[in-house]
Amino acid sequence: MSAVQHLCILGSTGSIGVSTLDVVARHPERLKVHALTAHSRIETLAAQAVRHAARVVVVPDDAARQRFLAAWPAGRPVPEIRVGAQALADTAADPDVTAVMAAIVGAAGLPGALAAARAGKRVLLANKEALVAAGGLFMQAVRNHGAELLPIDSEHNAIFQCLPQSAERAHAPTQPAPGVRRLLLTASGGPFRRTALDQLEHVTPDQACAHPNWRMGRKISVDSATMLNKGLEVIEAHWLFAMPMERIQVVIHPQSVVHSMVEYTDGSILAQLGQPDMRTPIAYGLAYPDRIDSGVGLLELTRLGHLDFETPDLQRFPCLGLSLDALKQGQEACIALNAANEIAVAGFLQGKIRYTQIPEIIAHCLNESARLDSSIPSSLDEVLYLDARTRRTAAGYCQFA
Ligand code: NAD
Ligand code: MG
Repeated sequence: MSAVQHLCILGSTGSIGVSTLDVVARHPERLKVHALTAHSRIETLAAQAVRHAARVVVVPDDAARQRFLAAWPAGRPVPEIRVGAQALADTAADPDVTAVMAAIVGAAGLPGALAAARAGKRVLLANKEALVAAGGLFMQAVRNHGAELLPIDSEHNAIFQCLPQSAERAHAPTQPAPGVRRLLLTASGGPFRRTALDQLEHVTPDQACAHPNWRMGRKISVDSATMLNKGLEVIEAHWLFAMPMERIQVVIHPQSVVHSMVEYTDGSILAQLGQPDMRTPIAYGLAYPDRIDSGVGLLELTRLGHLDFETPDLQRFPCLGLSLDALKQGQEACIALNAANEIAVAGFLQGKIRYTQIPEIIAHCLNESARLDSSIPSSLDEVLYLDARTRRTAAGYCQFA
């Protein structure tokens, strides 16, 4: 693969999208923007397209297209504006694109990420929900179409960096890397690691989004508070590294400096450390196998003093236990877990349900999914059907919760 990458950034206006463009701007010779997409914040999209000379943008509907044109500076050549979800997936597969940053939030990001894998692109995967909802399908697409898969989620990027160098590593392995005993996934424990349990039902969306170490989009911030995020990440690690769940351990590490670790059979543990700043894993994925400046400052180990590690408390974090149950149950349960959580978190952020009702809704939807007894989905349409079915169940439950 040539060192120059022509990028399509799916979800360029989000937290990961903005960090990606920050790294891109530092390397104009090797990183070129071909396409940008956004669902909202269309004026920001226009400003990004000007700044990075994007040739294509994708917006959700005609009203967004009009807003984009209204925000576009007079006298500059207008990029090609494509509209709708199909155009977004087609753009991820565009022959002019060499690498796709999949940074849409939620299962809504699955069709674009899958299209990129099926077109054999370098896929930088931030959108963990795509793997949770369709891990088997997605990894098969990477293998069948010779795509290159680089995890951007900081934990998985850390594990990727600590795994043995092998040709298979970025091409969807089918078994655990040789010599590896376990993957150790670190988790900060979020803002409520020490909150009294009886206070949790009163916490507000702003408190839940005030992550101690990372600044992220609101959905993943709530997921970090409930630790559902770590559950999604266990499922993500299971698929990315072909690792049975019994060999993935979650470790609470409040400083978020050790981003994750790989434990080997000889007793070695390899870790990747760094500041909690997503530009490090993003730069790693953009330049792989080279290393480039990401704009992230150095980590001063002597200032840290100490690093702490604890076992997660499943009573405090029931969403973590529910995620492990879903992974044990299978693909349909993982789709239900993710879809139920997306509806529950949106309800919480809109003030419709309490924080402590998030696990209630997920548990209800997992029971429903088990009761309806569907077969393992083998196509994108089947995944989207099960996803939509759970969203209806969860929305119904939210109304009466
Ligand atoms: P965000 O909410 O800040 O941004 C989401 C982006 O997706 C925006 O550009 C938005 O316009 C677009 N989008 C939203 N709904 C869409 C839809 N239905 N169709 C098309 N586009 C849509 O989210 P984020 O924090 O940047 O997270 C993005 C993904 O990366 C998530 O899957 C998250 O779990 C993962 N991730 C994020 C971080 C982080 O630090 N933010 C870290 C690890 C993994
Ligand atoms: Mg993560």
